[in-house]
Amino acid sequence: LLVVDDLRKSFGAHEVLKGVSLSVKPSQVVGLLGRSGSGKSTLLRCLNMLEVPSAGRILLEGEEIGFETGAGGRRRPLPAARLARQRAAMSMVFQHFNLWPHRTVLGNVTEGPVQVLGMSRDEAEARGLDLLERVGLKDKADSYPIRLSGGQQQRVAIARALAMQPKIMLFDEPTSALDPELVGEVLQVMLDLARSGTTMVVVTHEMSFARNACDEVVLLEGGQIVERGAPDFVMSRSENPRARQFFASHR
Ligand code: ATP
Ligand code: MG
Repeated sequence: LLVVDDLRKSFGAHEVLKGVSLSVKPSQVVGLLGRSGSGKSTLLRCLNMLEVPSAGRILLEGEEIGFETGAGGRRRPLPAARLARQRAAMSMVFQHFNLWPHRTVLGNVTEGPVQVLGMSRDEAEARGLDLLERVGLKDKADSYPIRLSGGQQQRVAIARALAMQPKIMLFDEPTSALDPELVGEVLQVMLDLARSGTTMVVVTHEMSFARNACDEVVLLEGGQIVERGAPDFVMSRSENPRARQFFASHR
C-alpha cells in the first residue's frame, strides 16, 4: 500500500533522515519507535508532505506522493489540488488534537467530509455518528470540545481523521500529552482500529501498545532504521546492541 524508498530529509546542514526505506501492507500496523530526536515525527510528516523530503520517494498504491514525472522524465512538484487529494488519503492524528472549539463534536467530525470530500451533510452526519459510536462518544455528539476530557478529545480527533476515509492512518504520539489515567481509553480505541484491519503507522512510546497492536515495529536511531521486525523479535530477542539498549530502558 505504502512504500518509502530511501527517504532523506535535512534541515539546513542537519540531516535528520538518512535514507529510510519501509513498506506498509494493507491492514498492517507499523510502530515507529526511537529516542527523542531520532526522526520519528519527521518521517511521519514527510509521509504526507507536511515536510517536503530532501530526497527519496513515497508511493501510495504505486502513485508517487507530492511529485509527478512530466514530459521528458522531469520530476516536478504536484499542483496543490492533487497534493491535497493525496494528503486526504493519509489522515494524521497528532499529540495535540486541535479540535475546532466553536464546533460541536459531531461538527468536528463532519466538517472535512462535507468541505473536502463533498459529502452531503446528512450522509456525513450519519457516518459521523457511527464513527463517534466506534470511539465510544456518540452521546457527546452535541457537546463542545471544551467540555470533554483530553482522552475524549483525542478520541474525537481519531473519529475526525477516520471520517476522511483515509487509506492509512498516521499517529504521532497520540497519548503523550494526556494525563496517565486517560491514556488507556485512547490506546483501546487504537487497538480496536488495528484489530479491525485499519492500516496504521504509529509513533509511540507505549511499549505495550507496540507489542500488542503492531505487526511490525521499526526502531529509528539518528535518522536511520537500526532494527525492524515482529514486536517480540525486535523488543525482546534481537541481538542488535542498539535495539537491546533501547528496549532495556523502555519497557
Ligand atoms: P520526539 O520523540 O522528541 O518527538 P522525534 O523522533 O519525533 O523526537 P523529530 O521531531 O523528527 O524527532 O526531530 C528529529 C531532529 O530533527 C531533531 O534534532 C529536531 O531538532 C530536528 N528538526 C525537526 N523538525 C525540524 C525543523 N522544522 N527545523 C529544524 N530542525 C528540525
Ligand atoms: Mg516526535
